[in-house]
Amino acid sequence: MTTFVSRSGWGARAWTNRSTNITPQNGGVAVHYVGAGSVARQDHADCAAQVRGIQNQHMDGNGWADIAYTYLVCVHDHVFTGRGTNTRTAANGSNSGNQDWYAVCALIGSSDSVPTALVNGIRSAIETLRATGNAANGITGHRDHVATSCPGEILYGMVGDGSLDPGGGGGGPGNPPGWPGVYFRYPPITRHASVSTWQGRMSERGWSITVDGAYGQASKDVCLAFQREKGLTADGVVGPATWNAAWTAPL
Ligand SMILES: [Zn+2]
Ligand SMILES: [Zn+2]
Repeated sequence: MTTFVSRSGWGARAWTNRSTNITPQNGGVAVHYVGAGSVARQDHADCAAQVRGIQNQHMDGNGWADIAYTYLVCVHDHVFTGRGTNTRTAANGSNSGNQDWYAVCALIGSSDSVPTALVNGIRSAIETLRATGNAANGITGHRDHVATSCPGEILYGMVGDGSLDPGGGGGGPGNPPGWPGVYFRYPPITRHASVSTWQGRMSERGWSITVDGAYGQASKDVCLAFQREKGLTADGVVGPATWNAAWTAPL
């Protein structure tokens, strides 16, 4: 059961400025982690201080108006309110990223594991952003917006296979992983963790396709042929129907 922690609950400083110029109905939620090494706190009593330290770094080191993230989630299933709903973030590394996507940061580093309690907290944060923050169903990793290792291999794999989606997902035979909420189109090339998931599934189905996480002309050609074969709208775009058919349509 996730516990939400208010800004006063973790001792946040006041922000110096904030903007409500955000349109998450066009994107959704981008997932982050803190960075390299091991940073997860064993004792939950230490987590609020960690969040305060991140805020100090963002405000005093980077000169930002506030902590950059919308929410921060610790390994103990607590969700700390950063900028909160309906507020533009500074975390996603690009104008379009900060315009259309909230930012949820896991309080782990590359050497830390991803316990179930953390996954629960991330799902709760995303669920809240959909329910009260107008977020669309998309879930991306920071690296989908800018060149970075964030949010690390484990979490980024979970972005791709639907594990972070509060609506379920997870996949398995005959049980399609939840549609990631991101349309694969070309051009330009669509890069997203879930592109590899779809390419891998199409390869399993016997299509000749490279599993490289990049949806370009070759992937689009496979998509078009698959859509024609299954009587789907042949638009070369992997949306919910084409995604689900990859798992559920007869071979
Ligand atoms: Zn990040
Ligand atoms: Zn904690």
